[in-house]
Amino acid sequence: MAAVTLTNVVKRFGLFEVVHGANIDIADGEFVVFVGPSGCGKSTLLRMVAGLEDISGGDIAIGGKVMNDVEPADRGIAMVFQSYALYPHMTVEQNLSFGLRMNGNPKADTERRVKRAAEILRIDELIQRRPKQLSGGQRQRVAIGRAIVREPQVFLFDEPLSNLDAELRVQMRVEISRLHKELGVTMIYVTHDQTEAMTLADRIVVLKAGNVEQIGAPLDLYDDPANRFVAGFIGSPKMNFLKARVVETSNSAATIELVNHGSVRLRKPLSEAFPAIGAEVVLGVRPEHFFEAGEGGCDIPVKADVAEHLGSVSYVYANAGPEELIVEREASRQRASGDHFTVSIKADRSLLFDKAGARIR
Ligand code: ATP
Repeated sequence: MAAVTLTNVVKRFGLFEVVHGANIDIADGEFVVFVGPSGCGKSTLLRMVAGLEDISGGDIAIGGKVMNDVEPADRGIAMVFQSYALYPHMTVEQNLSFGLRMNGNPKADTERRVKRAAEILRIDELIQRRPKQLSGGQRQRVAIGRAIVREPQVFLFDEPLSNLDAELRVQMRVEISRLHKELGVTMIYVTHDQTEAMTLADRIVVLKAGNVEQIGAPLDLYDDPANRFVAGFIGSPKMNFLKARVVETSNSAATIELVNHGSVRLRKPLSEAFPAIGAEVVLGVRPEHFFEAGEGGCDIPVKADVAEHLGSVSYVYANAGPEELIVEREASRQRASGDHFTVSIKADRSLLFDKAGARIR
């Protein structure tokens, strides 16, 4: 087991800088997920930890030892890729033992490690099959098994579930979580799927265009995002953003008016860094934080455009002037397409951002 520390890590491809000085401290035994939109640099960061990409600046340490110039095989890591990369002509057992056999690992120890990995992943029954006789989920288990037999200090996962269908993804997500609890080893996991990040991570690193936007426990990011980007990226369906303006400030409170809903106003506590009267701001409201008319004190009339009924809740995509809002409703309060109704916002269940996207607290 080992902590992983990235200090001012920079990556350039030619003249193009894609990671701009990342600082990330991962504790021994922690499960950390790198998440962010396509091209934000999450795979590049993981590949630098693995030693598959050079580092253009800064340091990467594993277990307190700087690894910048250490070969991938000597870093004590094992990586699981999106493509399972199994040898098609070998059985599961041979696939699992291949790396150890190539390294001249003693036979008895190799057998012990293969047996243990097969038990942990519950693939003991499949050990004599070849990859083409396995389902996608079973193949991914074998790929993870190949990492387990190496008994690494750190597991690295690069979008390992992307090739699986929705149901299997959920199943394998639970398996990976169980694996982490069982092995207690440091794991770094890359995904663009924020649900995977929320469910797997002890802590999430949110990346955007090569910058770390925020690092925190899943619910801390959800409830207390540092900026509009994190607020919009974490949570599904997404947070709603409403254009607003500061219209009044007193000693302790500021009044915000929603630009596209003329008379609708709400009050937020005033802080030192609060923008001046007249400043444009953005109000963030999660779909589940719209209330029934009158319950919040700040009512907006809307018209249901599309309603998605998921059983326990439904999501209504509603027109509210030029802004479309996503509103969560309990099943007992469903709305059909075309319905006119009123949603209400509670000031303390909404977040405020400045025009540039920084959080106003
Ligand atoms: P995705 O979710 O699409 O895999 P990502 O967040 O993992 O995206 P990276 O693959 O790390 O993103 O890529 C980060 C940036 O670096 C992108 O702009 C990409 O085009 C660029 N990049 C990655 N590999 C190379 C390379 N070998 N040469 C040049 N540019 C590269």
